[in-house]
Amino acid sequence: MSARTLNLTDDVYEYLLAHSLREPATLQELRELTRTLPGAGMQISPEQGQFMALLVRLMGARQCLEVGTFTGYSSTAVALALPDDGHVTCLDVSEEYTRHAREAWRAAGVEDKITLRLAPARETLEDMLAEGWAGEFDFAFIDADKQNYPHYYETVLELLRPGGLIAVDNTLWGGDVADPGNHEADTDAIRAFNDRVHGDDRVDLSLLPVGDGLTLARKR
Ligand code: CA
Repeated sequence: MSARTLNLTDDVYEYLLAHSLREPATLQELRELTRTLPGAGMQISPEQGQFMALLVRLMGARQCLEVGTFTGYSSTAVALALPDDGHVTCLDVSEEYTRHAREAWRAAGVEDKITLRLAPARETLEDMLAEGWAGEFDFAFIDADKQNYPHYYETVLELLRPGGLIAVDNTLWGGDVADPGNHEADTDAIRAFNDRVHGDDRVDLSLLPVGDGLTLARKR
């Protein structure tokens, strides 16, 4: 027994999956396909997808935003959890990776719930503010290039309604954030982001040791 988070051995992780995962077949197929692609490590874990789907249901979310879509695992999981009038706006720069996402959305029957905006996310987020989307989103997931995390966080926070939730991926960065000798640009960017959110009294906060570290920030 421990008062801190359990260290997940392979056996415990397999148990967790075997006794809690309810992965739709389309998501399982997408995960297997993505595993064969370069960049496969960018895919979120299935239990994280299920957790985000649960958050979306708990919140009764309708308008969702995703910064960094890759091959579409998280957007498909979230879209499947939304009511019929729910919507996900997906931001990405890769035509190639999002081609797989489009196929997954079709296979899961959620393509009508998703809009893909292919452009650098900083530009799209600024465009969305100019289009009047401020305060309109219930839930957002940030999982894109790490050096823009502080910028994405600020603009996404504006796009969120009070009470809305931002989930930010990779905030423990394989543990590198806790290695004082590691000053790679991505590591320093994630540290800067973590410190910014920690000191930000505009949000309620939790950093969960889920996947590679998942920060939840609720807009006050
Ligand atoms: Ca990620």
